[in-house]
Formats: sequence, C-alpha cells, structure tokens
Amino acid sequence: MTHGRVNPAHTLDQQGISGLGSVYYNLLEPALMQAAVERGEGRIGKGGTFLVSTGQFTGRSPNDKFVVRTPEVEDHIWWDNNAPMAPDAFDRLYADMLEHMKGGDYYVQDLFGGADEEHRLDVRVVSELAWHNLFIRHLLRRPDAEELSSFVPEFTIINCPSFKADPARHGCASETVIALNFEKKLILIGNTEYAGENKKSVFTLLNYILPGKGVMAMHCSANHAIGDPDDSAVFFGLSGTGKTTLSADPSRTLIGDDEHGWSDNGIFNFEGGCYAKTINLREEAEPEIYATTQKFSTVIENMVYDEDTLELDFDDDSLTANMRCAYPIEMISNASSTGKGGAPKNIVMLTCDAFGVLPPIARLTPAQAMYHFLSGFTAKVAGTERGVTEPTPTFSTCFGAPFMPRRPEVYGDLLRQKIAEHGATCWLVNTGWTGGAFGTGSRMPIHATRSLLTAALDGSLNEGEFRKDPNFGFDVPIHCRDVADLLLDPRRTWDNPESYDRQAQRLVDMFADNFAQYVDHIDDDVKAAAI
Ligand code: ATP
Ligand code: MN
Repeated sequence: MTHGRVNPAHTLDQQGISGLGSVYYNLLEPALMQAAVERGEGRIGKGGTFLVSTGQFTGRSPNDKFVVRTPEVEDHIWWDNNAPMAPDAFDRLYADMLEHMKGGDYYVQDLFGGADEEHRLDVRVVSELAWHNLFIRHLLRRPDAEELSSFVPEFTIINCPSFKADPARHGCASETVIALNFEKKLILIGNTEYAGENKKSVFTLLNYILPGKGVMAMHCSANHAIGDPDDSAVFFGLSGTGKTTLSADPSRTLIGDDEHGWSDNGIFNFEGGCYAKTINLREEAEPEIYATTQKFSTVIENMVYDEDTLELDFDDDSLTANMRCAYPIEMISNASSTGKGGAPKNIVMLTCDAFGVLPPIARLTPAQAMYHFLSGFTAKVAGTERGVTEPTPTFSTCFGAPFMPRRPEVYGDLLRQKIAEHGATCWLVNTGWTGGAFGTGSRMPIHATRSLLTAALDGSLNEGEFRKDPNFGFDVPIHCRDVADLLLDPRRTWDNPESYDRQAQRLVDMFADNFAQYVDHIDDDVKAAAI
C-alpha cells in the first residue's frame, strides 16, 4: 500500500525496493508526528514538540562509516580517512537489508540538498522511523507540491535502525553501518537511531560531488547583513565551537547553521533546517534557538524532561551531553528565505580552545587561514572523570575530517583560490577558555564573542590597531568596542603569565606536530605561515 504524494514514475518499487508493508510518501509534519506517536517512537512535548531518545547511540559512529571502493571513485577518495568497503560486500549488505525490511512500514521524503538550483542534489530518504523522516524533512530543503510531482531521486538513503550488520559478511566493523556507494547512488544506514547520521551522510555526498564541479563544500554556518546578501560571512568550526550559536545573530540574516557550498554564484546552504545543541541552553543568551524548543514539530533528541509538566531540563546530561533539537530554518525569525548569499566578505574559523591560549579573535593572512583550515584545531574539555582536567586537543582537517571523502588539499586549494579571487578577510575566533585552561579559567562569554564578531563583520575591527602574537604570528586587535582590552590579550588574563607561556609553547608544538603531515602537499607561502 502506498500513501501520500510521490512522482508515480519513481516509486520505491520502480527502484527495486519492494515487498514492504505500507509506504508513506512525503507526509507533512502533523502526519509524521502522529505516526511516530502511534508507533511509540516518542511523545509530544510542550508546545507540540516531539520528544525522543535514541538509546545506545547518542552521537555519530565514525568508525562504522564506509565508502564503497568502486573504480570510478577509487582514485579520488582519501582512503587514509575513509574506510573502504568492497562492492560485493555492499551488494550483500543491500540485499540483506532489503530482505530485513520486507513487510515493514516505511516513510519516504523526497528532498533537496543545496539551495543553489544549479548544484542541488535530489535525495530520497527512506526511514524505518517516522520521526527520522520528520527530522530529515526539517533538516533538508523541502520541494513544493509541483516539484514533488516531478521529483526524480538521484541518491537514495535507507536508514533502518532495526537492521544489524554482520562484519564478516558485510565487510564492516560492527553491527552498526553507514555505507556510501557513489556508483549505485545509495547510502545504507543500520543499527543506530542517532538522527544526525541522516544529515551528515548527505553532507558527505555533497562534499564528494561538488568539488568535482569546482564548488567548495564547507562545514560552516553562514549569515549575511540584513538587506545585503552580498555582505555574507561563513563560520567554519568543529562540533561545539559555536557555528549554530553564533550564526543565529539577531543583527544578521541566518543563511544556515552547518553545511554550505561556495560556487561562482556565491554561497548556499545545503540544508533547510538546523540541528542545535541544547545543553545549558539559556533563553537570555540564545533567545531564537531557545524558542524553537517549544514550537510545533521541533524534534527534541535525548533531553531529560519532567514526566508530568514536560518541562525540559537543559542541564541534565544524563542521557548525553550531545542533546539536540532539530527544526526547519523558518523557525528562526531572521532566517534567509533563499538560503543563499554572495561570496563571503569575511571568513571566520571558530575554535574552542580549552587550553585557554588562543586570543578571542585574531586576523589571519590568506596563508595563515590555509594553515588553520588544514590544521582544523579545537580542544575539548576533559571527560566527566573527576580530577581529570587536562583538555584533549583535536586536529580535524578542513574543520570536518569525518565528512571529507577527498584529500584535504582538494578543499584547501578550492578555498584558497576563492579567497584570492574575492579578497575575503579571515579571522580565527576562540570561543573556548580565557583566564586559564579548563579547570582554572572560564568559557569565553557569548556576548563578548558576539561583540567581536559584530566589529569584525562590519569592518570596524579591521580599522583599529593590532599586535602580532609572538606564538602564532597572527594579528590580534588591541581594542574592540564593548569588549574589555584585557580579554583580548590571553596572557594577561592568566594569573601567572609564565604558565601561559608554557601552555602556549605546548600548543604551538601540538600544531607543528600535526601539520607535519601536510608539508609535502602545500605551497611555500603556507609553509612559511606554519608555526
Ligand atoms: P555542531 O557541529 O556539533 O553542530 P556547533 O559548531 O554548531 O557544533 P554549537 O551548537 O553552536 O556548536 O555549540 C556551541 C556551544 O557552546 C553552545 O552550547 C553554546 O551555548 C556554548 N558556548 C559557550 N560560550 C560560547 C561562546 N563564547 N561562543 C559560542 N558558543 C559558546
Ligand atoms: Mn551546529
């Protein structure tokens, strides 16, 4: 039985996916929520949200992600970073998954990845869980009724959490699997309910396809000046560095919070929704994001709430610290209706430095920007173990190594060309610790980061005085409106400047050790910017 709206020439049966129970095509939010509730997947929360917990997996499973090693992609994939799966193993996986799915009910959404018509990807997402279908409908771009009636899926994602893979038979690492097959234009996901896998698998696809067409693919958020889409900015950064938080700026128009492309037409959002962290979320600091946690159809994942009042507990991380909410971008009042902007005037690289060494903002030369882009540094706070206060550094190239199928230089070269062509100003912003490392200092106040960004993006910061940072060689502003001078100089925020110097030297050494792997692949000016 099929229900809903679909291009009659492109049903699942026509794709060779048959024998299913009921198939529900392109249901709208209320119907998906109703189905999810009836199936016992979660419950309705305050304001009509959908509350769900994902069980064992509350984050991505990077070690279970595979790229099928087919001849056409073989020479283009960065195999040191992407685990290969043999084509015949994938074929067995697909056959076994289809067999497992027989008789079950499935939910299908036909969606666009990419706001730029010229570069968008038409993806079909087949979900076992009705709420996964709601999630991906929020996150990707929704075709209108007419576009839907002629929709032809180019890539298909099947996400079946009840399917357990067999490493011996399917060439994977565990019962959990995320397998991308560029030749068959299929992605298979099994044995994880974490919703983020859906969106990040589309991201990985676009990160492969777009650079092949000269389009830069970026793990970044983006916004533009109100009324001026050509005055746009992008914010690169690894998880937890502030892409979502800082792009939702009341004084700018939000383009997107996580994934963008940069073509000759400018920048464009891959998505049509946001996936925000909700841990310690406060209405005062992040009013727009907070408001979405009580709006109809927002998916609230892995949050603890009061059983009677359904009041969310933003501080209880007993399910996971990676608790999130997913909502369509229109829920943010100052979001762009087109998802597009001009070539960025400013490029911001966000890092959450838990060592407390990097200044809250620094201006980068294009070569320094390339150095920091390839390094992809952030530092997480220590785990929850008591007494462990040492931050853990992460170097993840292009600020998103797990989603980059091609070699880092491919993205680096594209970014560098585009920066040179458009003359963007580049900045490094530390949203992490000040006044000492994690354990001693404190997290950078969000209002200070916002003031620094406001001054960077409106051009005023660039006009002021700068000093050269002795450790990293970049320019650091001395004054900024609405920010104390002291905050701009991390060494002075530490009780003991000598311990700052020692910590800084250790961080410099970590950068240098990590960067050694790129030295053979880069140009002399970037080598010269290396520290
Ligand atoms: P992901 O890629 O996982 O979505 P992200 O880069 O979007 O990560 P955010 O969701 O914006 O990261 O997370 C930043 C977190 O840090 C938020 O919980 C925010 O409240 C907190 N935070 C604290 N201080 C700052 C600051 N100065 N700037 C930005 N975020 C801050
Ligand atoms: Mn985010």
